[in-house]
Amino acid sequence: MSQYQWPYENEVGREEEVTADVLVLGGGIAGCYAAIAAARRGLSVALVEKGATIRSGAAGSGIDHWESACTNPCSKVTPKEIAEAYVDEQDHYSNGIAHYIECREGYDRLLDMESFGGKIRDTEDEFAGAEFRDDETKLMFAYDYANRFTLRVWGTTFKPALFHELKRLGVKIFDRTEATALLLSEEEGKKRGAGAVGMNVRTGKITVFRSRSTILTMSRPARIWLFHPDLPGLCEFRPPQSIGSGHAMGWRAGIEFTMMEKSVKGEFSASGRSFPPYAAGNNHNTWYAATMVDARGVEIPYVDRDGRELSAVSERYYPAKGQKFFLKGGVIDNPKYEYRGPETLDFEELMKRGYQLPFYADLSRMPEMERRVIWGMMVGEEGKTRIPVLQNYTERGFDPKLHMLQSYGSGWQSASFLPQERQLFGAPGGVMHDWDLRTNIEGIYAAGDQLFASDCCGFAAATGYYAGRKAAEYAKKAPLRDICRDDVKREKERLYAPLLREEGMDWRELNMAISKAMQNYCGEVKCRDLLLEGLSLLKSYREEAVPQICCRNPHELMRAHEVFDILDVSEMILHACLLRESSSEPLCFVRSDFPQTDPQEDRRFITLRQEGGEVVAGSVPLDYFGDLEEEYEKRNRDYIEEARVKYYGGDGKENE
Ligand SMILES: Cc1cc2nc3c(=O)[nH]c(=O)nc-3n(C[C@H](O)[C@H](O)[C@H](O)COP(=O)(O)OP(=O)(O)OC[C@H]3O[C@@H](n4cnc5c(N)ncnc54)[C@H](O)[C@@H]3O)c2cc1C
Repeated sequence: MSQYQWPYENEVGREEEVTADVLVLGGGIAGCYAAIAAARRGLSVALVEKGATIRSGAAGSGIDHWESACTNPCSKVTPKEIAEAYVDEQDHYSNGIAHYIECREGYDRLLDMESFGGKIRDTEDEFAGAEFRDDETKLMFAYDYANRFTLRVWGTTFKPALFHELKRLGVKIFDRTEATALLLSEEEGKKRGAGAVGMNVRTGKITVFRSRSTILTMSRPARIWLFHPDLPGLCEFRPPQSIGSGHAMGWRAGIEFTMMEKSVKGEFSASGRSFPPYAAGNNHNTWYAATMVDARGVEIPYVDRDGRELSAVSERYYPAKGQKFFLKGGVIDNPKYEYRGPETLDFEELMKRGYQLPFYADLSRMPEMERRVIWGMMVGEEGKTRIPVLQNYTERGFDPKLHMLQSYGSGWQSASFLPQERQLFGAPGGVMHDWDLRTNIEGIYAAGDQLFASDCCGFAAATGYYAGRKAAEYAKKAPLRDICRDDVKREKERLYAPLLREEGMDWRELNMAISKAMQNYCGEVKCRDLLLEGLSLLKSYREEAVPQICCRNPHELMRAHEVFDILDVSEMILHACLLRESSSEPLCFVRSDFPQTDPQEDRRFITLRQEGGEVVAGSVPLDYFGDLEEEYEKRNRDYIEEARVKYYGGDGKENE
């Protein structure tokens, strides 16, 4: 490292030990709320974040809508209705527990956010009188204006607000520190969480964290199939530092995962192929329900779920006749009939009817409030839009009252991908858990995008807080466990190895090779021999390429560790694909050697974990969580009472 100019202190080889009751790994929305919940219960909390907590994670640069705020005062739906709809929408390959927590507690977390200084209401009356605003509460709604369970929010204010609350509560924040391994203790043949190892990504210092309980909130894997060595920052939708380290260290430690065989054809921002998110005209998500026109300026019609053409802009925000509510945003790309909302005619139909490419989003034809709320609020508050899109376009003269924005590709993605260019997008696999959001290893919990079938911010905030509560309850009774020094020593050797080499391969080469291997051997259509070939190729990378990776400084070292994690996750995915011996539509899973699609005996969660280098498979019924409301209420009586008093104006006397 010494021959290069490096602006930070060289602490390679140094080690410190930190002790906390609750250890949170990952400082995104889920991690921050987990830490807050535990700290509110009077426990000491350490939070480990690879970036800078004040702006890190998927929501660091903002979000524009908060899904499933089913208990807000204007909502016309119940948490049970929406959680069950999410489960049904994914053909039950969904996380009922986490979705119910999201729908039941998501609005509570938003009220917390407001108390921390985040903006959730139109306090300046910028949109007074708008159809999507409730003038009494000043809450603003997106998508379904009749049922009002998705809120438009000022998400750029959220991470700083959470960060200051963490500081206020005395949470010890370890920024620029990558968690690299879980530490376990084994008593009477049973594994228990004991802490984790972290490395400072600027100085190389190692920190050994000891804790009574640990919460995993390090998001989900990326760069498995899609990687561009010259554009690594643009490889996927989520932030570049979230590449699935939490999954990788969990896999190495024996944590159980499910749905890891699910992957979808690339959707967004991969390898410099698409435009930056939300930068091209479209009518999805942030841009819903922008008026779209064709090359001649002819307006593209919106239709409701029954195919009825809608004439007024306002009609785009209401359920069809006889429909209770519709779902939009997040993972709801191709909703089932029951949950389908108004949408423009699909691409093939437009071609048949003679509409001419290219298409444009034309906000100038929309009512003023709808135009302003898309361009200025949604584009502006949504992640990655404030500076790259809103500010840059405005400075270069874009005026939504006068100009249109071209739409590239056939959807919001602004690019199309090959079938083998896949992604863990939408609601992919992740950590398996019980009603306490506890993993199969005692003392280790998980939340947010690291859980299986996760999706949005409300989900991350609500599950984060919930996991924080449960981990705190456990920590109150659990001892601090001894750390195995040999495990720490081995981990330090693994971490530093690339720094000790004078010459070798760059981390990008290995990432590229893994991505190509995954495209070739774990693409759209899979079969046993192909998957085994993939495993054997990855094994050769582990044996031949990993020992050649060479780094010049702690930053490159972090990138190398990420790619080692990508290798572990890729192997887990190949194993998961081997375990499902049938094809499945909801899991976007095709096996040419097992073409039968969704046979009854395989309608189940297949789980997998690693034990002594071997893969251990398991099977869990799809609806293992039981009746969502009943099971939740059984386990959360204290919280229900606390929330009634704190968030819903109860005086606490009704139960006396
Ligand atoms: C551009 C964009 C727009 C979005 N818009 C919306 C929206 O409008 N509404 C909505 O509801 N959802 C939206 N989402 C999704 C939502 O932001 C995420 O689902 C949610 O923020 C996930 O929170 P999380 O805490 O689970 O993960 P993250 O926020 O991704 O946090 C994970 C954290 O872990 C850290 N980390 C990773 N590896 C390590 C490691 N080894 N050690 C330590 N730390 C590590 C990362 O740096 C990161 O800070 C959007 C996502 C993106 C990317």
